[in-house]
Amino acid sequence: MITVLAGGVGAAKFLEGLAAVMPQEEITVIVNTGDDAIFHGLHVSPDIDTVIYTLAGLADRERGWGLRDETYQCLDALGKLGEETWFTIGDRDLATHLYRTRRLREGALLSEVTAELVQLHNLRLKILPMSDDPAPTLLNTSEGVLSFQEYFVRLRQQPEVLAVDLSAAAQARPAPGVIEAIERARAVIVAPSNPIISIGPILAVQDVREALVDTKARVAAISPIIGGKAMKGPADRMLASLGHESSATAVAKIYADFLDAFFLDCQDVLLQAYVERYGMRVVVANTFMSSAIAKENLARVVLETLET
Ligand code: GDP
Repeated sequence: MITVLAGGVGAAKFLEGLAAVMPQEEITVIVNTGDDAIFHGLHVSPDIDTVIYTLAGLADRERGWGLRDETYQCLDALGKLGEETWFTIGDRDLATHLYRTRRLREGALLSEVTAELVQLHNLRLKILPMSDDPAPTLLNTSEGVLSFQEYFVRLRQQPEVLAVDLSAAAQARPAPGVIEAIERARAVIVAPSNPIISIGPILAVQDVREALVDTKARVAAISPIIGGKAMKGPADRMLASLGHESSATAVAKIYADFLDAFFLDCQDVLLQAYVERYGMRVVVANTFMSSAIAKENLARVVLETLET
């Protein structure tokens, strides 16, 4: 089994490559739920849905969230009723949230509902939420304390992030199978996701970081930062405002206690010696996943490195 720690878009791109070069049945994904929120009474799990929709070939790649060819009639109607509509939910996406919410109300666990959604989308890999307990990430920003989606979607990541509150994740128990997936994996891969708000919450869940340190499996991470910049989203600015360097080196440092290997982009070859100082093997590769071939090549290089 190969276990992948995942946020949303960056992780989903990597997982497409991985699922193309190895049997899906042998992949387990542990997904961040720190972004989960309730909108219109419905439980939305953005990172889980991004991973499922992308692997099922249904994602809207241009926008980076939601489903392709969506319509927004329900959202328009909600707006006319005076509801807040800054969190865009398409009509077909709504079906996922209605289903999830009904099952949770019936007493099902988020991990159970996620397994059902995986199966209903004809996927064969295992997708585990990091926890079945609510673990909302809060951000202390220049505009005050914000929920994740207020910061990310409503305010378009404009406020400066001064501190990240992962205390809910720190109280959360890992979902069934999470610790086993780290302990029993052949290898663990930290996807190129935001280290602070996508991977950070997973690492904060009880026992997860310790399991990564203790596992016999090799653990590798792929840098989400290339040439000091995030390809999308606020990871670079967030690293800087939280007192880190905005670089791949800083990402390696955040993960240094549990990493055996780190994948740097070719553009960052000059950082190799700096990252090696953290005591890990550094592999320089093309991590820019601009095509299906690029995704598969990256997945292949990562697997080969972890298995030799
Ligand atoms: P989110 O939860 O949807 O924001 O997604 P993630 O946290 O999984 O991914 C966001 C991160 O993915 C950003 O920091 C991007 O720099 C990174 N990313 C996106 N595409 C690529 C890519 O092709 N290569 C690499 N190395 N990183 C990427």
